[in-house]
Amino acid sequence: MSEVIRLLPDHIANQIAAGEVIQRPASVVKELVENAIDAGATEIEIFIKDAGKTLIQVLDNGSGMSEMDARMAFERHATSKLRSAEDLFNLSTNGFRGEALASIAAISHVELKSKMDSQEWGTSVVIEGSKLVDQSPVTCKVGTSFEIKNLFFNVPARRNFLKSDGVEFKHIEDEFIRIALANPETLMSLHHNGTRCYHLEKSNLRKRIVDIFGRAYNDRLVPIDETTGIVKIVGFVGKPEFAKKSRGEQFLFVNDRFFRDSYFNHAITQAYDGLLASKTFPSYFLYFYVDPASIDVNVHPTKTEIKFEEDKEIYAILKSSVKQGLGKFNIAPALDFDQETSFDVPYSMRNQMPVQPEIQVDTQYNPFNTSTFSRPSSPSSGVRNDRSAAILSAGFGAVEPKKEDWEGFYDIEEVEEKPALEMDLHADANKQFIFQGAYLFCTTKNGLLAIHGRRAKERIVYDEIMKTFVMQPISSQQLLFPLGFEISAAEKMLWEENKISLNRLGFAWSFNDSGMDIEGAPAHLKDDGIQKSVQNIIANLSVTELDKGEVAHVLISAIAKGAANQTLQWNTESANQLLNSLFQCPEHQYSPTGKVILNTLQIKDINQLF
Ligand code: ADP
Ligand code: MG
Repeated sequence: MSEVIRLLPDHIANQIAAGEVIQRPASVVKELVENAIDAGATEIEIFIKDAGKTLIQVLDNGSGMSEMDARMAFERHATSKLRSAEDLFNLSTNGFRGEALASIAAISHVELKSKMDSQEWGTSVVIEGSKLVDQSPVTCKVGTSFEIKNLFFNVPARRNFLKSDGVEFKHIEDEFIRIALANPETLMSLHHNGTRCYHLEKSNLRKRIVDIFGRAYNDRLVPIDETTGIVKIVGFVGKPEFAKKSRGEQFLFVNDRFFRDSYFNHAITQAYDGLLASKTFPSYFLYFYVDPASIDVNVHPTKTEIKFEEDKEIYAILKSSVKQGLGKFNIAPALDFDQETSFDVPYSMRNQMPVQPEIQVDTQYNPFNTSTFSRPSSPSSGVRNDRSAAILSAGFGAVEPKKEDWEGFYDIEEVEEKPALEMDLHADANKQFIFQGAYLFCTTKNGLLAIHGRRAKERIVYDEIMKTFVMQPISSQQLLFPLGFEISAAEKMLWEENKISLNRLGFAWSFNDSGMDIEGAPAHLKDDGIQKSVQNIIANLSVTELDKGEVAHVLISAIAKGAANQTLQWNTESANQLLNSLFQCPEHQYSPTGKVILNTLQIKDINQLF
């Protein structure tokens, strides 16, 4: 029998390895910049074209490579950083696997120019899909320049799966920021399509954070400094009142290497204990220094997960030092617990195809008309805890919308203005009152209907905007004083990529060095509503990779949330209006992001109290 097992040719092995190490342009940026740091560079410049799809260039003033090393560097398992297995337990460099360059060279066109201080001439190496095309002497500065072109040229599946330039550039920016935070003493700059996005001078950590995230951060940072036998923890945490609705600014480093760790994140969050508004996340920039032999960085191919020998001890030290830091600075937060700005689309909805959003009104439907009620009552009487649509609607005989049917709920065929429901809310049978400024209670024949005011408003605004949006642009109000937002280069791109929708929604803006000025906004919004809507939109564009059809839903939900967060002016008239408008929304039981809007305390439940 002839043998069937063969060794894979190197270039195929490299391509397979590349799949693990290089997922997207940002991975290339990370590997190249880390190599530059490992080579002792004090200045690193990065030039990107088309979010890295066309060009990634990294220039450094590090040690450079000899002629021989410049070629060797592309061999798999070629590394200058590890000589023996023991070295693995004593790592002080970013790289050590000798995989990155071999992987990158397997799936792109690479041009390397490098020169060591001791050499008269530099060397240039050209490699395409693992094949050496040319090596020749060149004149160049001391240090190294890598140019990566046509990434994934021979892996079309990968190339096709790349996201929009905005999303890919956001990933690059994220990697850039992590490395910049880990190396504040290194000058780093990032350019995209000819525009300089970051230019970070050599500095200290505090200044670096401020240079990246904006001047306002100078007053938001609380220093942490704790040394124990097991770990030294230094850095900053954000004051609780500046906690954000996205996890964007949470950074952990160990021995100057970025890592993620939900366990330590928990310790930090615990230290804020009661200081944070709901669904907000504190910023932190924390650096652990431990004996390299006490961690294992080898668990993940892209090395963002790290195993700690003494994780329980570190958890406790971390929690107490953050707590102490916050206490020492005598933080008295002005919290607004009433804000709920997070964007919590139920998981099941996230991957659904978008709805063609048009509204149909059921004019026959009256929530206070209980004559159609015929179903046997639910066995569960735990009104407050039971969120099922069946029980919700049982109270007043509404049509039952199933959560699974969400996407089919809007009727695509018919768009028609229908008159408001007529509800005699002043009649004795329907008394209403406002509870705690947040809930509206109405008496019905069956019990007590409780409505979550803010979510109701959210639903109403969402439906109103969506209904108009599909047919014509939303009317815009011009702002007398433009509202400034500090946003990053990648966030600008994401905003710009959605400009047609955002324009249609009534936004007008101009970009500037530090971010963006909002000059016009949907007419539905007041000042604080605009603020919150824009923040919501940016947070959502950054965390979700939106399919085309999802954009309207996400943008309009963000605006509706912003509008609903404006102070609600409650009085009998506005409560009536709210009720009327709410019950014109076909999906009046749930907010656009899937939260329960109304619930009924039934007579039998009330009876059971006694
Ligand atoms: P690793 O970083 O894990 O050693 P890489 O494939 O990233 O593996 O790099 C291979 C080798 O190429 C490195 O060990 C280093 O010797 C050399 N090298 C890569 N980039 C540079 C650079 N910018 N300056 C000097 N040497 C470099
Ligand atoms: Mg490397």
